Amino acid sequence: AMSLHHPPAGVMALNRLILSGTSEANPIALMLAGDPCFAVPLSLAGRTLSPNLPPVAIRIGGFGGAAGLADYLRTHNVGLLIDATHPFAERISANAVIAAETASLPLIALERPAWQPLPGDRWTRVRSLEAAATALPDIPARVFLTVGRQSLTPFAAKPQHHYVIRVIDPPDIPPAMRDVEIIVGRGPFALEQELATLRQHQIDWLVSKNSGGKAASAKLAAARALELPVIMVERPARERIGTVATVDAVLRAVTRVHDGLEKRAV
Ligand code: NAP
Repeated sequence: AMSLHHPPAGVMALNRLILSGTSEANPIALMLAGDPCFAVPLSLAGRTLSPNLPPVAIRIGGFGGAAGLADYLRTHNVGLLIDATHPFAERISANAVIAAETASLPLIALERPAWQPLPGDRWTRVRSLEAAATALPDIPARVFLTVGRQSLTPFAAKPQHHYVIRVIDPPDIPPAMRDVEIIVGRGPFALEQELATLRQHQIDWLVSKNSGGKAASAKLAAARALELPVIMVERPARERIGTVATVDAVLRAVTRVHDGLEKRAV
């Protein structure tokens, strides 16, 4: 049973800070917010103009590096840090590891499993966005770029392509490539929708980050169905401290931390 409910006698109610950046952060926040004894602020970097937010306390903006995050943890009486940021958000996750250590706090990091190629997939797996641009052909092609609006610059190295770029918010400055079409859209996407997009724009190549998760995976099934080549940018290596793979595993880990506090108080 999940004993998320009352702070044990002798234990001060502590806040739990959730670093957001994936769709999984919201159900975690909602589950933990059902507990009246712990405040659960959800922290966003502030990149998305109108993020989907659950009805919990929200804070927006950077902390000022690992030291700033450690300060925040101390001054806001945080007893547990949950990193539910995107697998490609390297800096904030590294900062979370350092700050949790500095503040002697438990850290739980959600890292959803990477997508794996299935039979019929035509993936070229690369280690960086620059390598993804290099892996595109030299002859002009129609490229569906789904790497996020902060990750477009490397594709200026291949200006001969027609880029169909899907973003959650339109880019602030026009992309450096000259032949671009912007589609604004937010997942989850259905297979039919992705097939329609690939067909309608006569896409030859798909470029994706290996983000994992269900919300964005239909484009891979659509590429498989149409036998399209995919350039898959694999994740940066990251320190795995307190790493779990699912929302349920995060909630179980929270329970374990809570039970640990209870034992310490007895
Ligand atoms: P990043 O490089 O790891 O972080 C850059 C800086 O943004 C961090 O040093 C931190 O500033 C601030 N920051 C990041 N996440 C934060 C959070 N949850 N709360 C408060 N501050 C945060 O991250 P990024 O790649 O720019 O991504 C920014 C956000 O978008 C993250 O929340 C990430 O999960 C989400 N996202 C990223 C991608 C991607 O492909 N990179 C895709 C989808 C969503 P300070 O050092 O000042 O604290």
